[in-house]
Amino acid sequence: MEILTEINIPKNKLKTTLELYLNPTQIEEINDVLDFAEKSHKDQKRISGEPYIIHPIATAQNLAEMKLDTTTIKGALLHDVIEDCNVSYNEIEKLFGSEVAYIVDGATKLKNIDKINESSQMAIEINTPQRTRSATLRKILIAMTKDVRVVLIKLSDRLHNMQTLKYLPASRQLRIARETLDIHAPLAHRLGMNEIKWKLEDESFRYLNPENYKMISKLVARKRLERERYVNAAVESLKTELEKSNIKSLIYGRAKHLYSIYKKINRYQEIGRKFNEIHDLFALRILTDNINDCYKTLGIVHSKWRPLQGEFDDYIGNPKENMYQSLHTSVIGPGNYSMEIQIRTKEMEKIAQEGVASHWSYKEGEQNVTNGNNFEQQITWLKQILEWQQEFTEDEEYLSSVKTDILSDQVFVYTPKGDVIDLPIGATPLDFAYRVHTELGHNATRAYINNKIVALNTILQNGDLVEIKKSRKNKGPNINWLNPELNFLSSIGAQTKVRQWFNKQNKNVIEREGKKILNKELTRLSIDLSESEIAEKMDFTTTKELIEALGSGTIPITRIAEAIDRTENKIKNNNPSVQPGVLVVIGEQDLLTKIGRCCNPIHGDEIIGYLTRNQDVTVHKISCNNAKYSLKPEKIVDVNWGEYTTTYSSRLIVNAYDRVGLIRDITMVVSSEGVNIHKITSSENKGSNAVNIAMTVYTRGVQQLSKLFSRLEAIPGIESVIRINE
Ligand code: MN
Repeated sequence: MEILTEINIPKNKLKTTLELYLNPTQIEEINDVLDFAEKSHKDQKRISGEPYIIHPIATAQNLAEMKLDTTTIKGALLHDVIEDCNVSYNEIEKLFGSEVAYIVDGATKLKNIDKINESSQMAIEINTPQRTRSATLRKILIAMTKDVRVVLIKLSDRLHNMQTLKYLPASRQLRIARETLDIHAPLAHRLGMNEIKWKLEDESFRYLNPENYKMISKLVARKRLERERYVNAAVESLKTELEKSNIKSLIYGRAKHLYSIYKKINRYQEIGRKFNEIHDLFALRILTDNINDCYKTLGIVHSKWRPLQGEFDDYIGNPKENMYQSLHTSVIGPGNYSMEIQIRTKEMEKIAQEGVASHWSYKEGEQNVTNGNNFEQQITWLKQILEWQQEFTEDEEYLSSVKTDILSDQVFVYTPKGDVIDLPIGATPLDFAYRVHTELGHNATRAYINNKIVALNTILQNGDLVEIKKSRKNKGPNINWLNPELNFLSSIGAQTKVRQWFNKQNKNVIEREGKKILNKELTRLSIDLSESEIAEKMDFTTTKELIEALGSGTIPITRIAEAIDRTENKIKNNNPSVQPGVLVVIGEQDLLTKIGRCCNPIHGDEIIGYLTRNQDVTVHKISCNNAKYSLKPEKIVDVNWGEYTTTYSSRLIVNAYDRVGLIRDITMVVSSEGVNIHKITSSENKGSNAVNIAMTVYTRGVQQLSKLFSRLEAIPGIESVIRINE
């Protein structure tokens, strides 16, 4: 009989799991690999004091439970031998073949490029500086684009490290948990591996936010019995109905995961909705044998319990980009409580839990057909990860592009050909253009969303059809696109490309561009300062330096107005007009205020506000007799004089091509900048559709005016905006 040592228990467990889906020859092969790994890690211990081999076995165990192929299991068992045991790539290739060698090498950390001594080679996570960690993550992402099994091993490896994180010092716990939540969990999500995703999230949550973690664990435990009773009753009554219609199903109440409950509580708080400890903590899940039964089941559910408006999603007809399929609905369940229900087939359930991994898994003794089909090449964001490899030299830059542009929450839009492009939430048509092709981005002039012309910095919504028009001459990007205030680009990838373009221009071009920008700004703002005076105000030693910084995109155009504003408002013929102090109702931004006619308070008086029947606020002096004697105390609100604002009038001329909605777009931009328009007139040029629009605006000064110009120039159809002297 075998002795149950601390190594033999996990070993036997792994063997039992493998025997469920592999044949004896395959298991024999895996045993050889395990022996080799065990010998290589001999005498090595983890920080917990356990023999090191426990870790590779645990990594393989997670993957065996998903019935992954032998190459993946072997790779998991060997994943630390190059890193920690001085075993070479060639040796693994010779012993176990090139596929195994490739994925082990792909999952191996880079040697510390900063040459700082490791404190302990056997640490769970080597305490390397950020630079090496970024380079390693980059290497793993690239290796993954050729063979996604690299990342399956890496995620399983990370999961076991997270599950044993308590042995590490607190500072490293936080750093590793943060990285897991920022990179590994989103990566699992985009690969559709929900099971591992929520485990990674919950483990990270435990370390990053221990108070809330405990609070929510208690919340889940507190009403468990009541919840189970409710779920069981719902399950039983539904089961009967489905059986009557001859639908075979598996129904259960799935408790939500801690981190997702935490996010739900926060979301509810934002919209002022009360969180229900019994009904918001679970979802009912129904698994059927086939798609037909999913829809039949949905019909039965909806006729039994009233569905909630706007809560139905058909991810069977429209699968999510990470392959997830299911029907989602919310109904008013027993006892008048809302209840979430998910309906899917058993196959869809497997994909919902394992995502991409299911492509590499065994199904009844055979490997999935899709595997080996190079399906990695069909995932567009994997292609993107690979393309950026050429475009970004800096690892940090590369990694932050992946983090912001690919691993963050995404918006999905369509090209005119019907291809789906995924971009980070907040992305614009310009981000889209850069994602499709760098040249399309550089030369983008107009954008259409759902066949309507829009500004290049419009925020994209899910499902938008986006079309970009290129300029015929290769005009290159606009330096304003780098101006963060204008929100042209939210993806790091696109921003970097614009910056790279400007940096690649030769000195003459940069100088010419810089001069153009400076002159344009001084002209359109009608500023009376020389170039050298501006350079001095902006702390540049020479005008040339300023011009180069502007021309290469190192500093945005807004810095000019900022510097002028900071020192003095030197607008030609400025005629400052002091506006009455703005009234502010404390705590309420949107209430209208009126000055009480009885006492006519002026700026500086002590005042109170009175809520009228029309829900606006009349302002009285505190000493006003009306206020003292006839107002109801419960209707009194606190008010304050806002700051005195001095505004300056400027006359602007906008040159544009006329189109429907142009004036509306202009006034919307102006008012969204908090600027008042006094007069607006437009005159057409006979025989063309060019128009001149003249308006007088009141701004707080040069800086606000400059930003307004840039935003106006971004409106489709607008050619130029200048300030003129009356
Ligand atoms: Mn490891």
